[in-house]
Amino acid sequence: MRMIMMGPPGAGKGTQADIVCSSMLIAHISTGDIFRANVTQGTALGIEAKRYMDAGEYVPDGVTNAMVRDRLAQSDCATGFLLDGYPRTIEQVGELDSMLSAQGVSIDAVIEITVDVDEIVQRLVKRAADQGRADDTEEVIRRRLEVFAEQTAPLTSLYASRGLLTQVSGMGDIADVTARIRVVLNPDS
Ligand code: AMP
Repeated sequence: MRMIMMGPPGAGKGTQADIVCSSMLIAHISTGDIFRANVTQGTALGIEAKRYMDAGEYVPDGVTNAMVRDRLAQSDCATGFLLDGYPRTIEQVGELDSMLSAQGVSIDAVIEITVDVDEIVQRLVKRAADQGRADDTEEVIRRRLEVFAEQTAPLTSLYASRGLLTQVSGMGDIADVTARIRVVLNPDS
């Protein structure tokens, strides 16, 4: 299974992606987590990415695509993976298409977790208090939602036109959302 998990900041992508990947035994590739790990380690990539992340902007496509290309070449991705937070721009979709076609594989499913805006802001403010993420301040949250609407929301119609997209409501408890995703991934169970 090769899949993409999409959705606005605060939709619960990371939480649901962890659950799906441990039950399906596939690699969880979160570009946000890889950037944060690089920031913590103080790598050149982390220093570059931090400037954008702290402002709520996307890290430039060239940097992000190269990082994903390296990650997808690792052996644990051979049997399947879930991309969490990538692709986020039309250019990233094109790059991902060419990375996968070079390997002779393709995406099997795209799940978009949908959550209404009031709920998102509440969740992100709570996450800021719980985890202290530098990009969870109110001003940066607002910018991240704008960037998502401008650059990433259009990707859903693109994947829908390929017949790959299923939207899943992200409202309610974590377990409720997981149950909805499970139905999409195992329609016969
Ligand atoms: P996330 O944890 O997925 O919300 O990502 C946190 C931040 O990392 C984002 O606000 C961006 O600054 C950066 N980031 C993560 N994924 C991407 C991506 N696919 N393209 C560009 N920037 C990204």
